[in-house]
Amino acid sequence: MGNRYRWPDGKQCAVVLSFDADAESGYVFRHPEEAARRLDEMEERRFGVRTGLPRILRLLEKYGLPATFFVPGYTIEHHTAAVETIVQAGFELGCHGNVHEAVHMLDDAAERHVLEEQLDIYKRTFGLRPTGYRSPSWSLNVRSPGLLTEYGFTYDSSLMGDDIPYFVDTPHGRLTEVPVQWLLDDAPFYRHVYGATNAIAEPDRVIGMWTQEFQGMYRESACFVVTMHPFISGRASRIDGLERLIRTMRAEPGVWFATAHQVATWAAESNQNTAVHVPLPGERP
Ligand SMILES: [Zn+2]
Repeated sequence: MGNRYRWPDGKQCAVVLSFDADAESGYVFRHPEEAARRLDEMEERRFGVRTGLPRILRLLEKYGLPATFFVPGYTIEHHTAAVETIVQAGFELGCHGNVHEAVHMLDDAAERHVLEEQLDIYKRTFGLRPTGYRSPSWSLNVRSPGLLTEYGFTYDSSLMGDDIPYFVDTPHGRLTEVPVQWLLDDAPFYRHVYGATNAIAEPDRVIGMWTQEFQGMYRESACFVVTMHPFISGRASRIDGLERLIRTMRAEPGVWFATAHQVATWAAESNQNTAVHVPLPGERP
């Protein structure tokens, strides 16, 4: 067994089930005019908070599993009762933009404003102050880590630079990274985009890929972070697929099911990986 990374209580690997509860926010950000008149696109995404989310919560409850939900301010303001069920069930919530703003498209002032606004929405709606952040569409620019540490975030979960937790050095301190990857995202496989050439993958194929990646990452004592969206993964057969994956992972000894916050806290305390340097504004990579 590999000891490439040390996990609490001698565990072999970590598993983070993460859900990005975007609701309609991604569409509203990218196509604000169409969002105001297209009912079809909006309803496709509302399925997530209306039907997908309760299914996901029931599945997590059935197995007593922790999870992290990254929720944009838009979802909190437009679907407050649905997000309240996540809070009441005791799951971790992390910031995920206001209206799913891709931060690489924002200037410094706008990025700062969006960050302040989402923290304010969390505070005034739930009295919560998330410690974690996942950028919408996993887009980050070089100043984002510094901004996150300046505003007191302890971790980010948007980058793909490793498959164990690592750190990003910033002028305001070290930001812990709980890394993601495209292979473990439901959207590239399940999401139907009209006119695009990729076919919708059946759950057996997706769960097969995720299971193989889990087996490899288990051997590598890595951090298996899977990213799902309630409006995509909340469909009935996909929930069944997720349940098969959960049963497979639970059958292995030494799997630490944790929130992203728990992984980030362990990473910071155990201090095992290196920190990457982020170029300062104007500095050449
Ligand atoms: Zn998202």
